[in-house]
Amino acid sequence: MMIQYRTPHITVFESALYRTTSTVIQTKGFVLIVDPNWLPREVSRIRQFVQAIRGGRSLYLLFTHSDYDHILGWQAFPEATVIASAAFANNPQKEKCLEQIRQFDEEYYIRRDYPLGYPTVDIEIFEDEQTVELEQARLRFFLTPGHTADSLFALLEHTGAWIAGDYLSNIEFPFIYDSNYAYEQTLQKALGIIREDDPALLIPGHGDATTQKAEMVKRYTESLEYIHNLRAALQSGAPFPEAQLWERYGNKRGLAGPHRENVEFVRKELASR
Ligand SMILES: [Zn+2]
Repeated sequence: MMIQYRTPHITVFESALYRTTSTVIQTKGFVLIVDPNWLPREVSRIRQFVQAIRGGRSLYLLFTHSDYDHILGWQAFPEATVIASAAFANNPQKEKCLEQIRQFDEEYYIRRDYPLGYPTVDIEIFEDEQTVELEQARLRFFLTPGHTADSLFALLEHTGAWIAGDYLSNIEFPFIYDSNYAYEQTLQKALGIIREDDPALLIPGHGDATTQKAEMVKRYTESLEYIHNLRAALQSGAPFPEAQLWERYGNKRGLAGPHRENVEFVRKELASR
């Protein structure tokens, strides 16, 4: 597991799988871990790092959403206070998420030195723009359905870090599991954050963190364009401009499946309107 980005307060780890990020943020009063993930050695590296830097500080664990790759490290940090959305806590498909973890681990004969489980949430985010004060630091949360119904953004005000979950990636187009309409609204919310809250660092769930505002806007624009192209193709029957997609994102063999799933998902969504 490599460190993709590092300042005295923020460390972004990157898994070898899907370039999934795990972020550790330190303030005077706490250490916050976001979505610790994938391979046992990668999770244990994050645990060692946290042990080394923690001192006497409180430990928090934030889950951006319930996709199985983002939650599989939960019990590696049993002493942490868990933050996630209320929709995450009340997810009707908890067993499905767990089954996906088991499927993955058994498929690759993976052995973990901690038990698997669906995270128990201690601090629930139930409304948009909810703020939470943790040991004299302020976190602002935004409900961001579209990718999943239980996704959220977190803005850590004093570091300027913006935890975006599976939005605004530079290596993935939108994966739409919840709603393409909600996804578009979430993108507008993201644009509002870029313009009004001046985030210093955008950290997506997959791919590169960025400090550049132009890059943040570019990811917003490209994500929105993908959704618009998808809708237009489905409504007119014209083919989706796929060649362009692979030129932009690469990893065609891996991303062709998610793109096909988006087409089927949005087709149903448009038909039921
Ligand atoms: Zn996801």
